[in-house]
Amino acid sequence: MLDALQRPVHDLRISVTDRCNFRCVYCMPKHIFGPNYSFLKRSQLLSYEEIERVARIFVNHGVRKLRLTGGEPLVRKDIELLIEKLSAIDGVQDLSLTTNGSLLTLDKAEKLRASGLRRITISLDSLDGDTFKSMNGVDFAPEPILQAIDTAAAVGLAPVKVNMVVKRGVNDNAVQSAAEYFRGTGHIIRFIEYMDVGNSNRWQREQVISAAEIRDIIGRKFPIEPASPDYHGEVAQRWRYRDGSGEIGIIASVSQPFCSTCTRARLSADGLLYTCLFANTGHDLRAPLRAGTTDEELATTIRQIWSARTDRYSELRASQTIEIPKIEMSYIGG
Ligand code: SF4
Repeated sequence: MLDALQRPVHDLRISVTDRCNFRCVYCMPKHIFGPNYSFLKRSQLLSYEEIERVARIFVNHGVRKLRLTGGEPLVRKDIELLIEKLSAIDGVQDLSLTTNGSLLTLDKAEKLRASGLRRITISLDSLDGDTFKSMNGVDFAPEPILQAIDTAAAVGLAPVKVNMVVKRGVNDNAVQSAAEYFRGTGHIIRFIEYMDVGNSNRWQREQVISAAEIRDIIGRKFPIEPASPDYHGEVAQRWRYRDGSGEIGIIASVSQPFCSTCTRARLSADGLLYTCLFANTGHDLRAPLRAGTTDEELATTIRQIWSARTDRYSELRASQTIEIPKIEMSYIGG
């Protein structure tokens, strides 16, 4: 199944909730996502059976990677039941989950692994307590997250990928120490350029630390060299340490957009299909799912949506400022 720019669909990112127990400043700032914010109601959420149906249709059309996101996916009850269903779908080659790690106890990690989860990505924006607390907006310390990373690896969810969003004047001074901390551990830290996702983070281009700057910051102390991508459409650039002590990733959506190889579709927790992270409209799959539509009819709808896809927001953003209302990161997940 190819889109209008000849890009196949290979990854389906599934948001299972728009709720989160953190209030990260670049995603879910407290002044917007406060106590009166109206999150999706239970009845609006796709059930695990409905998510499985959609995922199965996508896998039949070429998807090989499923990633569970949120909000914070571990706040959704019994997520292991969904993972069991998805890991049983024939053709799934990779099943992963992105979490802030705050709820990843040993018991939870073991259950996720036992239910079929293959890999996990944990967000950690700084090793420095004050910086991390100010960025997550809930005064949560980094130590439990570092523990969660080791716990994930201990139960077999390795190599653990660690995501760090780098914002100028906020945590760019933590890039080298984060690289140093994870170097030689087998965990892969990925530095993410600060993006204008959604409308809440008041993004400014000057606040972006570019991939080139990140490479310089790290390369000054730990020489790195490019490594070839693991697969077509991989989001992160891979850079390995010249001394063989591991690798890092850099996600350069702003300075080096990668829309030409974008194979990602996104399903929101309330059943809308989005063909770009920076989209402003989605396609409702929940209504047909609940109206007794057959899988074949649903597949036809999904084929029509994907084959008409022309999204390449990051490429366009490189040459112009685009002022459109966009879906929130906390709603659609990364
Ligand atoms: S901006 Fe949209 S089309 Fe481009 S890589 Fe990101 S999700 Fe894909």
